[in-house]
Amino acid sequence: MPVPKTAGIVIVGAGAIGCSIAYQLAKRGQRDVVVLEQDAVGSGTTSKAAGGIRAQFPTETEIAISLECIRVFERFEDEFGVDIGYRKIGYLSLITDEADLRGYEPRIALQRRMGVDVKVITPKEAQGIVPAMQVDDLIAAVWSPGDGMAGPAEVTGAYARRARELGARIVEGVTVTGIDLASRRVRTTDGDIEARVVVNAAGPRAARLAGMVGVDVAVHPRRRHIFFTEPFPDIPGPTPLTTDRGSGMYFRKEMEQLLISPGDVEDVGDDMNVAMDRARQEEAVEKAIHRLPILERARIAGGWAGLRPLTPDEHAIIGWAPGVEGFFLAVGFCGHGFQHSPATGRLVAEWLLDGHPSMDLSVFDPNRFARLPGGTS
Ligand SMILES: Cc1cc2nc3c(=O)[nH]c(=O)nc-3n(C[C@H](O)[C@H](O)[C@H](O)COP(=O)(O)OP(=O)(O)OC[C@H]3O[C@@H](n4cnc5c(N)ncnc54)[C@H](O)[C@@H]3O)c2cc1C
Repeated sequence: MPVPKTAGIVIVGAGAIGCSIAYQLAKRGQRDVVVLEQDAVGSGTTSKAAGGIRAQFPTETEIAISLECIRVFERFEDEFGVDIGYRKIGYLSLITDEADLRGYEPRIALQRRMGVDVKVITPKEAQGIVPAMQVDDLIAAVWSPGDGMAGPAEVTGAYARRARELGARIVEGVTVTGIDLASRRVRTTDGDIEARVVVNAAGPRAARLAGMVGVDVAVHPRRRHIFFTEPFPDIPGPTPLTTDRGSGMYFRKEMEQLLISPGDVEDVGDDMNVAMDRARQEEAVEKAIHRLPILERARIAGGWAGLRPLTPDEHAIIGWAPGVEGFFLAVGFCGHGFQHSPATGRLVAEWLLDGHPSMDLSVFDPNRFARLPGGTS
């Protein structure tokens, strides 16, 4: 599809976030929505996500967003006609450090007040959930059985298909190379498009895109690996998404395989090259065997690496970009952009069409980093 000459709203990026916004705008009757994607729908960092969905967040806003998203995932098939493989496998966080446990307590209290099923359990109880774990070094675990997982590709593909059915145009294989807000022109490798509003949903490339209009955005892409074993029936599934808080390693069962991440957070520089680093495989295996000694018998079959679009305080950045007109930010979703995509799409659509979102989103305020000493945004 060629790039149209004009649009009301141009969204840059067809990841989980951009496609959800396009779907919600189209669902609200906005007819002139164009999504520009340099590669293919869902091919960005969304394609690297582990599919985790949790309600354990530190702020009221994010917990409310999670609970809304979980409701959407629960009835996704009714709304979109697509089976996304949603399963409530639970999240289990393993704790070895007293201060870490104390840090959890106020968050758990808030989550419980908001209706989240989450509690502190003993190491023995944690072992009851994943019997293959050794738990000698644990002091406690945090267990939330209502958390779960689904397929990011299925979810994003479903948003895109429904957005297109409702009239949005998603143009793949076209790169945005410049934005001139004064003339409302978005320059692409396939010609210019004039738009009233441009939405930055460029994931790890958000800061680069914002740089085209002279705006600093505090989104810092950091690499993370995930490896998977050959089929390994010795640890029967499903297992919860289990995180070793001490080492950062997490694992969960994926079909017959076990997914293992070393929990790495690495700056790979400006070229955004996410080649895999095999040293990380050894690190992942070592950390995983410490927790699951039976894994000595497993073999790693493969893996991948992706960029998590991190922000300094680990909250997303949502709102009008400061200092310019017509440039909206829906970026910096760290390690939770896939799972927060349903509500984000709805709230951004409200903001763009009604002038404000129906929920207080000040925790995501794009101006907040500018208020920190030495901060920019
Ligand atoms: C290893 C790993 C595990 C993760 N696990 C989870 C998890 O369990 N749960 C969860 O919720 N999240 C997880 N995440 C985070 C999640 O992947 C991201 O937060 C989310 O995918 C961000 O979606 P997005 O739409 O903002 O970005 P993207 O999916 O990257 O979409 C942005 C799109 O913009 C396009 N683009 C960029 N610049 C341009 C341009 N100039 N012109 C045209 N197109 C452009 C890109 O090609 C890309 O497709 C994980 C991430 C990683 C790396």
